[in-house]
Order: sequence, then C-alpha cells, then structure tokens
Amino acid sequence: MGTYFVQTWGCQMNEEDSEQIALYLDGLGLHAAGSYESAQVVILNTCSVRRKPEDKAFSFLGQLAIRKQKNPEMIIGVAGCMAQLRSSEIRQRAPHVNFVVGTAQISLVPGLVEGALQGQRFQREMALPERRGAVVTDIPLRAVSRSPKLKAYVPIQYGCDKFCSFCIVPTTRGRERSRPTAEIVEEVAELCRNGTKEVTLLGQTVNSYGKNLAEGRVSFGQLLEQLDEVEGLERIRFTSPYPRDFKTDLIEVIRDRPKVMEHLHMPLQSGSDEILRKMKRLYSTDEFRQIVAETRAMMPNAGITTDVIVGFPGETEEHFQQTMKFMAEMEFDGAYMFHYSTRPGTPAATMEQVPHDVKMDRLHRLMSQQDEITLRQNETQIGLIHEVLVEGESPRQAGMLKGYSREFRMVHFPGDASLTGQLVKVRGESAHHWGIGGTAI
Ligand code: SF4
Repeated sequence: MGTYFVQTWGCQMNEEDSEQIALYLDGLGLHAAGSYESAQVVILNTCSVRRKPEDKAFSFLGQLAIRKQKNPEMIIGVAGCMAQLRSSEIRQRAPHVNFVVGTAQISLVPGLVEGALQGQRFQREMALPERRGAVVTDIPLRAVSRSPKLKAYVPIQYGCDKFCSFCIVPTTRGRERSRPTAEIVEEVAELCRNGTKEVTLLGQTVNSYGKNLAEGRVSFGQLLEQLDEVEGLERIRFTSPYPRDFKTDLIEVIRDRPKVMEHLHMPLQSGSDEILRKMKRLYSTDEFRQIVAETRAMMPNAGITTDVIVGFPGETEEHFQQTMKFMAEMEFDGAYMFHYSTRPGTPAATMEQVPHDVKMDRLHRLMSQQDEITLRQNETQIGLIHEVLVEGESPRQAGMLKGYSREFRMVHFPGDASLTGQLVKVRGESAHHWGIGGTAI
C-alpha cells in the first residue's frame, strides 16, 4: 500500500482543500505518511497571496528533485493558487513534477495520481469559472471526513468578485460562486454526527453568500439560521465578511442565534480613505466605523478583530498615521498585520512602491500599538464568565487547558484533560497579550 504527504501553505481555504485532497487519496487506498521523505505521493498545496510562500514552494520542489533522484517512483503534484497562476513556470523550473492542477480542479487529483502511478504524465488546463454572476454547477462534490474532529472548516463560497487592487485571489480562485445551501447543511450535520461541535464557514467575502444559487437567493443570514438548527452543533464561526455587505440584519442573526458566535473578523486593510480608494476597497473608514459601533451597541462584549496592510503603494507617513489613529479608535481585540507584498499581475504591482525598510518600520509600530490595545481589551474581561470550548491541554503549562471563548478570546484554565470537547464556564482572572487566564466555575 502506498503513502502520501500533503504540504500546505496559506489560508484556511487551502488547509481545507488539503484535507479534501487527503480524503481523495485515502479513497485510493493510500495512507498518510509522517514526512515527505517516506511518501510515495507528495502534493504541494501552494499559496500566492504573498511572495514568501511561493519562494518556499519552489525551494521545497528543489528538495523533492534531490529526493526523486534517489526514488524515481515518487509522484509529485502541485495544487493551489501558485499552481493556478504559474503552471508553466512550475513545469519549466521543476520538470520532475508529475502534474499541476488548478484551484477549481482538486477533485482531479486522485485520477492524476492513478495516472501517474501507471506512468502517465499530465498537463491540465487551469480552468476557472469566467462569467460574473453565473449560476455555477461545477463545484465538485466534497468528501466529508469520517474521523472525529472537534472543529471543522466548511467552505460555503469559492472565488471573489471584488478585485481589490493588491489581491491575486480573483485570478487564482476565479469568480464568486456559492455552494448549494442544502449541501452545506447536510455536510455540517454529517460532521456533527461524527463529533464536530464547531464549524467555521469559509469564503473570501462570506457575507455575499448565496447570490447566484440555482435554487434562488439565500442570504448568508438565512444560511446561519438553518445551520443554527443542526443537531449536535454547538458553535458557528465564519471568515471573512466584507464590510460593504455587512448589514444590521446580519448582526441581529449573530446576536439572536445561540450557536452563532459573537465574533466578527472583518478586514479593514487601511485606516486611510485615500489608500482604501487606491486599494479599490468599496467602503470608507466612516462606514467601517458605523459597522463596529452598531455591532458593539447590539452585542457589547463582541470580539472584533481585523486585517491590516501597511506600506501599500503610495502610502505616506500621513496615511499611515491615519491607520494608527483609526486602529487606536477602533480598539480591536486583535489584528493580523502585514506589510504589503507585491503580487505580479495585480494593479498595485505597477504602482509606486514603498521601500521595504519603511514598510517594516510601520509594521513594527502598528504591531506594538495593537499589542497594548489587545492587552487592555483582555483586561476588560477579568471578572466576566466565559463559555469555553475546551480543545485540550495548553502547551504553555502542564495541568492547564485551553480553548476559545464565544468571542474568540483564547482562555487558559486549570483542569483535567477529560474536559476536552466540553463547553466549560470560566471566570476571567488575568489578562495577557495572548488572551485570558481563569478558573472553571
Ligand atoms: S475581497 Fe479583495 S482582498 Fe478579499 S479575496 Fe476579494 S479581491 Fe482579495
């Protein structure tokens, strides 16, 4: 019986695709290997959102070339966004690769592996849906993991129609298309029958879900309401919503449906309106401010986190100061902060770039400000009772358990590992940069 290894870079969507690939390969009777060195089939699931993961993928392909000289039977496949974008370059720079497969075609992987096992070589077209607004019926049927998982990712939407000027995703993942509602609800129900208690719904602009469904429009809020009824499910999270489509009725669903967690991760990207316009983000800081204010007015203890890019082309110190000020005003519970990374093929790549050392300096200043804000926000949680889904023992300290609160705050508390998978009430007693320490009540 052969073995396989899937190496993944990038976002949760890629992690989820890798799990699908693993399930497809399990279906061929292959077994997961502990490392690529011992695997017969190695799949690289790549990311193109920044340059670093692309460099890592090419470097890994170099290591595999050496390994394949020793083991010519090894089968190497490349999937994911870099495969979609740079297939010819991959085949040119890494002729030892057996196949390259596009982001919308991962269900072809088992057939490609079988073909390669029989000595065939394949060049696949990197087909993606072309038409905006089209009803898409070519979303592959997904395999659902039968192995018990406390938390699971569930893609509900693929691709993106927004075309932010810095982003390669609409090119690598294609136009926005939603999975049928009934299929999503059934997948979640199946996961829960196998022990899952929390699902995170994935999509590039998750709250525009349901626009082009063959069965007619189903809003994201309506999907949440249907999932809230699934037996055995305890928690629903989602990432990431797009600010412009975030309306009051959705906040009401989050507030009123007990299984939908009071956490909003909404990418801001910049606190400067001029930079937002250059980024082709379709909202202003004022509109963003209103969403945050409304969310906090309706759910005072909601967790609100964001993504920010510093050093976007044309960003001056003044623009950056606007971001610092806006972030200080918003007091997000946490933020993923990045320096801008040039993506060839995007409009921003041809704009005047900010020097690397300036980008890094701004990133460090923003991170240090956010660290203080996060700590202050965590301090407000002392004395409050948090519902925690216990994920297991904390790696930080023996005898401590870890899990997330409903609002996505990390919580550590003393307890027995047998509580793993349970919802436990914990009183917040100490605040840290990483989250909250407490005691079960
Ligand atoms: S909304 Fe913008 S940043 Fe997000 S995936 Fe779409 S194009 Fe990229």
